[in-house]
Amino acid sequence: MEVKPITHHLFFVLLTATVRTQVNPEMCRYPLGMTGGQIQDEDISASSQWSESTAAKFGRLDFDNGDGDGAWCPDIMSEPDGLKEYLQVDLRSLHFITLVGTQGRHADGMGNEFAQRYRIKYSRNGSNWVGWHDRKGRQIIEGNRNAYDVVLKDLEPPIIARYVRFMPVTDHSMIVCMRVELYGCEWLDGLMSYSIPDGHLMIYRGLDVYFNDSVYDGTTAERLTKGLGQLTDGTWGLDDFLHSHIYGMWPGYDYVGWNNKSFPKGYVEMIFEFDHVRNFTSMKVHCNNMFSRGVRMFRQATCYFRSGSDWETEPVTFRPTVDRVSQIARFVAVPLGDRTASTIKCRFHFSDLWLLFSEVAFQSGKNNSAWVSFLSVPWDDPTHKVDDSNTRILIGCLVAIIAILLAIIVIILWRQVWQKMLEKASRRMLDDELTARLAVQTQAFSFHHSSLSSEGGSTSNSTYERIFPLCADYQEPSRLIRKLPEFAQSTEHLGRKEKTQSGGSEGAPHYAEADIISLQESSDSGTDSITPVNINLFAGTDSSMKEFPRHKLTFKEKLGEGQFGEVHLCEAEGMQDFLLEDLSIEGNKESPLLVAVKTLREDANKNARNDFLKEIRIMSRLRDPNIVRLLAVCVDTDPLCMITEYMENGDLNQFLNTTYRANNIASTYYIKLIGMAVQIASGMKYLSSLNFVHRDLATRNCLVGKNYTIKIADFGMSRNLYRGDYYRIQGRAVLPIRWMSWESILLGKFTMASDVWAFGVTLWEILTLCKEQPYSQLSDEQVIENTGEFFRDQGKQVYLPKPPYCPDRIYHDLMLSCWRRNAKQRPSFQEIHTLLMDISNI
Ligand code: ADP
Repeated sequence: MEVKPITHHLFFVLLTATVRTQVNPEMCRYPLGMTGGQIQDEDISASSQWSESTAAKFGRLDFDNGDGDGAWCPDIMSEPDGLKEYLQVDLRSLHFITLVGTQGRHADGMGNEFAQRYRIKYSRNGSNWVGWHDRKGRQIIEGNRNAYDVVLKDLEPPIIARYVRFMPVTDHSMIVCMRVELYGCEWLDGLMSYSIPDGHLMIYRGLDVYFNDSVYDGTTAERLTKGLGQLTDGTWGLDDFLHSHIYGMWPGYDYVGWNNKSFPKGYVEMIFEFDHVRNFTSMKVHCNNMFSRGVRMFRQATCYFRSGSDWETEPVTFRPTVDRVSQIARFVAVPLGDRTASTIKCRFHFSDLWLLFSEVAFQSGKNNSAWVSFLSVPWDDPTHKVDDSNTRILIGCLVAIIAILLAIIVIILWRQVWQKMLEKASRRMLDDELTARLAVQTQAFSFHHSSLSSEGGSTSNSTYERIFPLCADYQEPSRLIRKLPEFAQSTEHLGRKEKTQSGGSEGAPHYAEADIISLQESSDSGTDSITPVNINLFAGTDSSMKEFPRHKLTFKEKLGEGQFGEVHLCEAEGMQDFLLEDLSIEGNKESPLLVAVKTLREDANKNARNDFLKEIRIMSRLRDPNIVRLLAVCVDTDPLCMITEYMENGDLNQFLNTTYRANNIASTYYIKLIGMAVQIASGMKYLSSLNFVHRDLATRNCLVGKNYTIKIADFGMSRNLYRGDYYRIQGRAVLPIRWMSWESILLGKFTMASDVWAFGVTLWEILTLCKEQPYSQLSDEQVIENTGEFFRDQGKQVYLPKPPYCPDRIYHDLMLSCWRRNAKQRPSFQEIHTLLMDISNI
């Protein structure tokens, strides 16, 4: 069957067309409101979430409002015993659902997670859940193959439900993210379940003809109870019951049928339960009438009604004219005389050997069109069959043409909007004042730099201190970005958006918003060299981290303070035994091993706690000589601790700043410095081989061990795999703007190429011995303004100057290439590593 949802635009066109002719479940394919927003956030829930920004409410198909990370992603590590993750949608009332759509998390190039396979569970009352399966019993639905495309799947058979759960099938080592939509229409019958005797087997000329209700979703003991099935699946049987609408099915598939001989009383009793008390005008039963084979429509229907606990004594009896001429299958309408009930019991009397039904529907309440709009036969003439194939083709063609036209219009409008934005961006320049300020600043900057070089050891101007993550190196740039003319409008708009979202609390909007990102995509002609974060690649690595007995840690001294709490030097008794096979950790078996223990502060909130655990997960999967190694954890009880290898010489920034007192670099130092850069490049090469974006590479986040060993640490930012996950402590989103590429600041794009940019700055720090902060002469605002110049690319951008005694080759071939505007033209870490190795071997 062709998979095509009906868009809202076409809804009314189709409705008017169909009320008068024929509506059937093939038309019941309207998006139910995940994308369009008719389904409220509070009606979307999930078993778990990876982070706040990947909560259930972000699991809306084709929807990227910029506040979240672009999809719902379950917390893969939660692994509750055997329970599966799910995203649940509450439709608030019963719906007939014919189609589902899924999509992964793309987040404009920053995400690459999707569910390759999933299951569906549904419920009508919120307590009885049924696993959907197709007509052949298969439960698993093939989902997405990439993070971008929407994959639509027909639900065959369709489901009638109020609650639907999407359950990604995952092996718990892969991150999956989903965006979903449901398609269908409201289930106006209000029928919650029917109870019937299960169908019988007919042997027709040696052929087994099964008349069982093969898609019944309730309990199937003696009678079928508490479920719905073939009688409400919207498929009516053909005149010849041996054939089916559905390809590949057994004879008799479309019908549920009973043999007279098994019913001594001469009738089949069916009970229908509804969602609430209704006024019933009529019931329609689709019957086969192939009397040449012993099948005939019923001769009498007697219906009883119940609103409370007892059946009303007065039934309604109806005797249709049994057609003895035409063998055409037909709907037989049973008038129900406006009786009030929440349960109806009907007895259908045989008029021949067999009774075969394929569909039952009810009309209740005042709204007649409700009936017509869902089930479709002409009401007055039960024997009349509508030959609607031409009409259908016509409507199909019209729908297709309208859809194509609409799509074209949307694309044209979309392009125009972006074109305008781009024109604006390139036309507008910083105003005179700003230009002048920057020009003056540039001079001052160069001047300062040359005076600094000639002054030799002078560090008097430096305001650069030991870095503490929430201090000078980390800024909240959105306030500053708003001053750039190109971004003024967008960020104001985003500011409003976030204010409404967060109830206007800590106001600063996240700067990395989707609509700005698209700007870069169009200006950089689509696909960037940038590889999206894809931690699925870690799937093969053993990520299990062992719990270390806390009492075996002996505190020695405080090493520093991070954003989560303090870092202590400790002795870890028996750590070597604990690590078993691992030979890379020094120390003999007898003496306790020195380790660094990072502890989550007592008063940490839930977010910080989650992030701490996430940093553990990420670090536990990284193994490289130039990446700080996580040895064990203490997470069974509070306070949470991560135990990493101890790096004797602290962080690289402090190390360089204090070890090399002079600003002047002697040649022996120089070789050592390049050696350090080689090690950082090597660690980054490893991360990039995993498509892992660090996001906060800087000397302050590299640690120094014995013999100038350098290891990259601090995955506090990289933990933010998703946008929007930033700390906002007292209104501050903390971002290292002086290390960030222009596209990270303006467009929120964090990629391998932006890590390369940060590497350039880190190299610059190393070669200036961390004596001053990058762009120390520029205020934060000016740094952002300079970023705007990179974006405009009119040659006005200011680069970090060549460090004293830095060879041209390193400055021009390496540093400047790391800061190229076009991310694609920046070198890879592989290339950087090779180049630095070359240089260090000279
Ligand atoms: P955060 O990631 O929360 O900012 P850090 O990991 O940067 O915290 O730790 C803060 C400080 O503690 C570092 O600057 C460094 O001086 C010290 N430190 C952290 N880890 C180690 C370690 N493994 N060995 C030695 N010192 C460390």
